[in-house]
Amino acid sequence: MQNYQLFIDGAWVDPASGQWFDSVNPYTGQPWARIARGNQDDVARAVQAAEHAMHHGEWSRLNPTQRGHALRRFADVLARHAERLAAIEVRDNGKLYAEMSNQCRYLVEWFHYYGGLADKVQGTVPPIDKPDVLNFTRFEPIGVTACITPWNSPLLLMAWKVAPALAAGNAVVIKPSEFSSASTLEFAALTLEAGLPPGLINVVTGYGSEVGEPLVSHPLVRKVAFTGGESGGRHVNIAAAADFKHVTLELGGKSANIVFQDARMDDAVSGAISGIFAASGQTCIAGSRLLVHESIHDQFVERLVTLARSARIGDPMSPETQIGPITTELQYRKVLDYIEIAKKEGARCVLGGAAAEKPAGAGGCFVQPTIFTDVQPHMRIAQEEVFGPVLCVIRFKDDEDAIRIANGTRYGLAAGVWTESLRRAVDMSNRLAAGTVWVNTYRSTSYTTPFGGYKASGLGRENGIDAIREYLQTKSVWFYTGDPVSNPYIRR
Ligand code: NAD
Repeated sequence: MQNYQLFIDGAWVDPASGQWFDSVNPYTGQPWARIARGNQDDVARAVQAAEHAMHHGEWSRLNPTQRGHALRRFADVLARHAERLAAIEVRDNGKLYAEMSNQCRYLVEWFHYYGGLADKVQGTVPPIDKPDVLNFTRFEPIGVTACITPWNSPLLLMAWKVAPALAAGNAVVIKPSEFSSASTLEFAALTLEAGLPPGLINVVTGYGSEVGEPLVSHPLVRKVAFTGGESGGRHVNIAAAADFKHVTLELGGKSANIVFQDARMDDAVSGAISGIFAASGQTCIAGSRLLVHESIHDQFVERLVTLARSARIGDPMSPETQIGPITTELQYRKVLDYIEIAKKEGARCVLGGAAAEKPAGAGGCFVQPTIFTDVQPHMRIAQEEVFGPVLCVIRFKDDEDAIRIANGTRYGLAAGVWTESLRRAVDMSNRLAAGTVWVNTYRSTSYTTPFGGYKASGLGRENGIDAIREYLQTKSVWFYTGDPVSNPYIRR
């Protein structure tokens, strides 16, 4: 068993509670690491370290160009450790090594990109309407930033927050999921190898109520960037509002993947499969509602079932495996509950619909790729996020019907459109109430382009040039250059 302490002020430290909890490998079902159980005292220590690093330490004396250099040096160190970090991540969350290794190599780009952006965020000189006045604006870092992440893609989603936060001049305290903490701790330790100042990146592990809540409520934390479920997001938003903190929320989804009668069928079938069965459906952007035009519905479902049935369930470290375990037992039970709910609601199960047999040597929790047809848009299975390999197929009549069904949930994270008609693709992408729309592709994201949700899927945006503004606040500076003021009681 590997032991992981907290990482605060550039050093490994024991938790104030003296307590630890196990991290379980989702494939073997066995604990593989002991993680420090942080509490509010550890949070206070980490926030103080971040506050000091940001306002009084070496980081505070770097100009934006130097900050950029530091981030790019860090990126180079991360690149050297990408495969190792990916293997640790698989041990924690059970997702395919092939996917985690892609993610860990890719997240390096966030540090290059935001490192490059650090000295390119410029204020303005507004054409002021008053005589004898020079006015300009400048962007300043907001303050200590809390980065709270979920278990499904801990390092990538952390990089989406930490890279722009640091580029903007803030320091961070990261609270990873209690189910997948190890890779974030290993990441933070690489700051030592990269020569980043102590206190700039701190990690406090533990539970949402014991670490997340005190972190969000800490008076010195001025910005909270959260990725997770709707319920956690609501708590965080309410707690942050009490102290007028800046907030970015990336929450859940029930994304519609819409297949029109004029789509290229092979592409659409493969897009539907990757939309829901990649990562065993444990992805916020899962295309969990597949809307299929009634004229192609039956043949499309047949092809989908044939392809999904051949999926190889197994060890996530093996390149042969296509579907790995469900990350936690709690999540496994939730997925099976939703399968039962769908059956009771009258949806027709045409594939799977139960736990999967454990591969030889595995001890974790597996669910068969599951497809329901005859799903009505109002059913719970079509409205609520399952976060598992469960697809519901809904028929639609025409474009209006597709838009009505697609937009008819409380979520709005993403949507997919499969069509060869340019006119239809443009019309759909304009009218879909979602933060991301993919046409003839699914599940792409990049450091260059904004990502975030409409409605209950979140607030604010990550990635792209604009995201750095989520970690900055604007100051307006006025210079008076005219004659002495004659009447101080009149506002100028
Ligand atoms: P979760 O909300 O249970 O936990 C996320 C993080 O928040 C964890 O670190 C947890 O400990 C912490 N937390 C929980 N309650 C808290 C509170 N009251 N105050 C502060 N911190 C708290 O989510 P999860 O189960 O880890 O992840 C799955 C969810 O994340 C799904 O709903 C999924 O859609 C969502 N997600 C969204 C995106 C996105 O970019 N929109 C990406 C990945 C996952």
